[in-house]
Amino acid sequence: MNYLSTRGHPDRKRFCEILLEGLAPDGGLYLPEQYPQVDTATLAKWRALPYAELAFEILSLYIDDIPPADLKAICAKTYTADVFGSEEIVPLRELEDGVYLEALSNGPTLAFKDMAMQLLGNLFEYELTRRGAELNILGATSGDTGSAAEYAMRGKKGVRVFMTSPDGRMSPFQQAQMFSLQDENIHNIAITGVFDDCQDIVKAVSNDLAFKRKYRIGTVNSINWARLLAQVVYYFAGYFQATAGNDKPVSFTVPSGNFGNVCAGHVARMMGLPIQTLVVATNENDVLEEFFRTGVYRVRASVDTHETSSPSMDISKASNFERFVFDLVGRDAARLRKLFVEDLGLQGSFDLSTDPVFEQAAGRFGFKSGRSTHADRLATIRDTDKRFATLVDPHTADGLKAAREQLAPGVPMVVLETALPIKFAATLVEALGEEPARPKKFEGIEALPKRVVKLPADAEAVKAYIAENCD
Ligand SMILES: *Cc1c(COP(=O)(O)O)cnc(C)c1O
Repeated sequence: MNYLSTRGHPDRKRFCEILLEGLAPDGGLYLPEQYPQVDTATLAKWRALPYAELAFEILSLYIDDIPPADLKAICAKTYTADVFGSEEIVPLRELEDGVYLEALSNGPTLAFKDMAMQLLGNLFEYELTRRGAELNILGATSGDTGSAAEYAMRGKKGVRVFMTSPDGRMSPFQQAQMFSLQDENIHNIAITGVFDDCQDIVKAVSNDLAFKRKYRIGTVNSINWARLLAQVVYYFAGYFQATAGNDKPVSFTVPSGNFGNVCAGHVARMMGLPIQTLVVATNENDVLEEFFRTGVYRVRASVDTHETSSPSMDISKASNFERFVFDLVGRDAARLRKLFVEDLGLQGSFDLSTDPVFEQAAGRFGFKSGRSTHADRLATIRDTDKRFATLVDPHTADGLKAAREQLAPGVPMVVLETALPIKFAATLVEALGEEPARPKKFEGIEALPKRVVKLPADAEAVKAYIAENCD
């Protein structure tokens, strides 16, 4: 399998080459040259597989530069009941007639990002060992991504993590999750500033090419193809659990921010998994909801990006969206460049509302969308608790609301549960007047010793710290 850039760069790459890379050299995103097709006989065969073996089968279609026995071992080591809390790994439960919750948040940091990041940690360690190389991951986080990356990379050979976060701005639980890690290769850097300062530092360091090369700086952000690929697997696993051996379609609703999670659903659907509808659920930051409703994609300014009670979906633009639009415009790279480089660059938006391809977003590609507000989240959390004795986190609540607006008779609707309620306790308290229960392994983590350095919002200070801590 070869990978191409959405912006038309002539080079083709193999999986392990793009594994450790971010953007393609022309600024585009990597995609496979074509989507492998899965027929009904294969689906029938895969139905009974344990999760790790299903992951191996799907990954094998996209990865041909890791020997199969090694890839199988990596999948088996990643997707264990020990790490993810159950043999099913992503158990499905029926909430009400035809509406299901797929649990993706029982990994080490209690959010769905563990599903991909845990695999990425093992793939990185494997590939770096094979090359005899090292990688220093530099990131910026306001919560879920940073902790998922640290728990995936802790103790891994050849990898160090330098994770910046805005000092004092994460929830006490999220801070404790990250700062209590005592692993030598994990470095928490609390920056005096806000999340944007952290992102600016990461950009400044990455733009210093000499420093970047000397200290082998890499990232694990959501545009990484391996992360997206890992997420394709749980669409298959959810489909199998929601159906009983017939080829009837299923719909999914996905709480969305950077469009990584739902883009994996798009890939699964392109492979032939019988998905009827993919519902993109957003909060007040409705860049994506607006596109699927109107055909206009309008990037927001910082001042128009709201801080909401589903903070992991607070985005001004959706970094994976370019992958879907590439397919939507028939993989026409020149057309794609016009939209994402010219139109977005010049006017911050593009408009497909009068273009015939826009109808295909809902038609051929099966996308719909829905939007929630803070009041909707509180109402959904209360209603789900009252009627089904089930607690959902604010992001999953955004999903449930959008899902109910798109139900079709006879088509199971699977809502992806993207985090556990304890991660966002303040909103649960606001809705229900009490704290959600906390898994045993997280009891008292706020009191553990913390490993973190404080630095000013200054890229030079961060560079000096990295240099000091790379032998
Ligand atoms: C990251 C995240 C999302 C958004 O996922 P995308 O892949 O960026 O669309 C939604 N919910 C939670 C809890 C998250 O951590």
